[in-house]
Amino acid sequence: MHHPENDNQYKGLQVNSGVGSQPIVNPYRRAHRARRRELSAAEFVEGILKGDVSVLGRAVTLVESTTEKDQALAQEVIEKCLPYSGNSRRIGITGVPGAGKSTSIDVFGLHVLRQGHKLAVLAIDPSSERTKGSILGDKTRMEKLSQQKDAFIRPSPSAGSLGGVARKTRETIVLCEAAGYDTIFVETVGVGQSETAVHSMVDFFLLIQLAGTGDELQGIKRGIMEMADGIVINKADGDNVERAKLAAAQFRNALFLFPPSPSKWKPEVLTYSGYFELGIDLVWDMIDRYFDYVKKTGYFERKRNEQAKYWMMETINEQLRNHFYHTPEVRALLEQKELRVLNNEQSSFTAAKDVLDFYFRSLRSE
Ligand code: GDP
Repeated sequence: MHHPENDNQYKGLQVNSGVGSQPIVNPYRRAHRARRRELSAAEFVEGILKGDVSVLGRAVTLVESTTEKDQALAQEVIEKCLPYSGNSRRIGITGVPGAGKSTSIDVFGLHVLRQGHKLAVLAIDPSSERTKGSILGDKTRMEKLSQQKDAFIRPSPSAGSLGGVARKTRETIVLCEAAGYDTIFVETVGVGQSETAVHSMVDFFLLIQLAGTGDELQGIKRGIMEMADGIVINKADGDNVERAKLAAAQFRNALFLFPPSPSKWKPEVLTYSGYFELGIDLVWDMIDRYFDYVKKTGYFERKRNEQAKYWMMETINEQLRNHFYHTPEVRALLEQKELRVLNNEQSSFTAAKDVLDFYFRSLRSE
């Protein structure tokens, strides 16, 4: 291309021809990898038992999938992994947003890894999809831990009801244990129903609290405190140490009023700082003592058996409910009955009975 600056009258000036425009596609980029091949149940199980993290990740995705085909395969993989599962410490960790769960899990996790364990961090956060809020168990929230090869971090399954989300997390525990993770953290937000679900799948339940303005006990649901095997007051650092100690004393007093837990273990209250890594070993020492205690008394086994029964019943309830509400004729009848009840034309009780009778009859004729 001719440039006027290259004219002889401008000696010493030379405009080079420019760099041609680049192709949009980078020629050095390697060709697209072929789509990942689907694995068979046996291949999934083999990979999981070898501790292959990428196969484990794919298996968890399968568990979380809602398609019937994936679910059937997932169930097969879970069944085959079951004999290799169970050999871990399952620890539930809860606390309101801002209590310091991610900071604490990061340092608790490193502590566990230093002792030579393998750690999986899972989560139950049924709110995450609706509110697009915190996706618990997210890698970006646990910066140090996420760089460790012996840590497997997985955000909460997001879709569906609490029961559904919790079941998926419980099934993921089985897969992680089969893959050799001997410590499992299950994180949840300490504000709602999800604690009950977590409590029903862990051996130890840790409640993270903060020292506040003297009315610490106000905002906490009593039920959550009752479930806790350990209460830890975070952010006991700097000016906050005394306040944290005071809060701990208040919690200890409050715990006196609670009935003894079925394990007969007396929940302990400790202070620590996740951010400054103070008192972490004491928190872990408490958890070690708990496991020694419940293994000695047999409560550990008893609780696991009860949890297995609980999940069987939960699964039955969930499937029954799904079948009932997904039957189109039942839904149509429900709508009619709802109107009748609202118009005082029929009592709630007989309306319910009519719908159920109809449902049971439809089952018999199926
Ligand atoms: P989460 O919402 O429960 O996961 O809480 P985060 O771990 O994200 O912590 C919330 C905020 O508290 C962050 O700004 C942290 O830096 C801070 N934080 C967490 N642990 C401590 C601690 O031990 N001491 C102090 N001073 N701040 C902390």
